[in-house]
Amino acid sequence: MKSTELLYLQDSYLFTESAEILEISENEFWKYIILDRTIFYPQWGWQPSDMWIITLWENSFKVHKCMLDSGWVVYHYGENTYWEFKIWDEVTLDIDKDYRITNSRNHSAGHLVDVAMDILWYDRFLKAWKWFHFPEGSYVEYSGEIPEDLEVMREKLSATFEELSERSIPINVKYEWLWELEAPTGKSPRWVEFEWYVWCGCGGTHVKNSSEIGRVSVRKMKYKKWVLKVSYETEKPNHLPSYKPRA
Ligand SMILES: [Zn+2]
Repeated sequence: MKSTELLYLQDSYLFTESAEILEISENEFWKYIILDRTIFYPQWGWQPSDMWIITLWENSFKVHKCMLDSGWVVYHYGENTYWEFKIWDEVTLDIDKDYRITNSRNHSAGHLVDVAMDILWYDRFLKAWKWFHFPEGSYVEYSGEIPEDLEVMREKLSATFEELSERSIPINVKYEWLWELEAPTGKSPRWVEFEWYVWCGCGGTHVKNSSEIGRVSVRKMKYKKWVLKVSYETEKPNHLPSYKPRA
């Protein structure tokens, strides 16, 4: 199967687009559709999958979850209300816009935690190694030794987020070959750049400017066995998916 063109990597604000059906099938749990290209973000560890609907005239397929396989093929899992799609049909894709924006804000906020850590020079002691950008329970984990008391770090981080909330930091996505990285970016390295602060290999969706994130705050900080976990939240309400798939 030809790998799926991942349109969300180029444009996080593409909420509707057309695509061609390459395969319709099912496994033991779900029906699925494979397309030549997609705007649906497939769940990749640290950011949840997009969901909503694939349509052609009165035919519709409700997308519950998307997954990416090792050959860069996106599987759109879900259920159809009518099942009359055919291979090569040109269909319309629509994602849940509010949920996408929530996930983009949350993902960008995770990188903003890295920006704050850099500003405070904590990056000399602690290296980010794990990110979780789901709307509920977002965190970034760092490995290394904390340079000062955890409570002091928390206060400084909070003050830095306060200062950053006054700033509009442009968030740019760039494609450049520098060295091999493991980010889920398809065929070329994709970087997310927060002005001059943070330059990070990333396959997620982002807002265009830090001002769209809303104020970020530290929800919880925990340090155990050389791992610092910074749990964060954003001030704007997080949208849960407006379409709730059947359990
Ligand atoms: Zn990222």
